[in-house]
Amino acid sequence: RAKAEGGGLYSSFAEGMDQNARQAIALEADLRRALGRGELELHYQPQIRLSDCKVVGVEALLRWRHPERGLVAPAEFLPLAEESGMIYDIGEWVLNEACQEAMRWTERGLGDLRIAVNISPTQFRKQSVASLAASALASSRLSAERLEIEITENVLMQGAERVLKDMRDLHRQGVQVAIDDFGTGYSSLAYLKNFKVDRLKIDRCFVRTMETDPRDAAIVNAVVGLGKSLDLHVLAEGVEREQQVKMLKAAGCDEAQGYLFGKPMTGDAFLAFAKPDCEASEPVGKGRAAVP
Ligand code: C2E
Ligand code: MG
Ligand code: MG
Ligand code: MG
Repeated sequence: RAKAEGGGLYSSFAEGMDQNARQAIALEADLRRALGRGELELHYQPQIRLSDCKVVGVEALLRWRHPERGLVAPAEFLPLAEESGMIYDIGEWVLNEACQEAMRWTERGLGDLRIAVNISPTQFRKQSVASLAASALASSRLSAERLEIEITENVLMQGAERVLKDMRDLHRQGVQVAIDDFGTGYSSLAYLKNFKVDRLKIDRCFVRTMETDPRDAAIVNAVVGLGKSLDLHVLAEGVEREQQVKMLKAAGCDEAQGYLFGKPMTGDAFLAFAKPDCEASEPVGKGRAAVP
């Protein structure tokens, strides 16, 4: 009986595996077609300057509008894109699309916001992100200072030689570089000395519990201090509550991003959100408690 049960368990496990594998293959085939079919899109999340509560930047976040599955989050398909090598085409598309969208906003009267684009570590290791950025900037005619590349700490630790050159090339063009999820990678702080970095993005995991856990508050304060003494901008990710804003301002943090200010939204929605004197839009801060 135990054996029968075991067999039953085993076969349902195998069936499960089978189904997962089949699903993964189907998803991969779908993803291959997604780019050509225009199913990938970027959503945009505002980045706020805490001193005056103005929208000063925006982060482009990838979404897949799957015909049957609906809107698919990047965590569900980026690993697949990385494994299959599709990430190179996707990353290039993201860069081009983000630069073009930023120019469209400018043409429609939005000020010169900074636009941040996430680049996968895989892509950074294999390609010159500086050349990809250069061609995206050239074809969109966006000025380089408005583009920011987000990378994680781990990228700077591996393949240092060519990444170093890439970072230098980005900097020479005037493109900014932000360290995403700062404080969560496997890295030493030495890279802050060796690489030209413009902005640290404090990971959401520290911000999330900074009001209740003094250790998180201490880390946030320390990162802000580190940024200040190295002359870097510091942005807090994942801000959801006014109390966090209070604490971040007290710490001297420059900027924040999070659901409190706005969730990722379509390009048109972002234009209406951020455009200062457009009748259709509401000023930032309306519809939520004012930030002290
Ligand atoms: P990330 O770059 O750290 O982006 C921030 C993530 O946190 C986004 O998730 C955003 O929607 C979410 N978020 C922002 N504010 C809040 C908040 O207040 N509360 C909570 N709970 N979450 C918040 P998303 O869009 O699902 O993206 C996840 C990750 O996928 C990104 O993390 C980034 O690493 C990666 N990613 C997104 N777009 C791209 C892309 O175009 N290229 C590459 N290579 N990676 C991307
Ligand atoms: Mg990011
Ligand atoms: Mg992040
Ligand atoms: Mg992240």
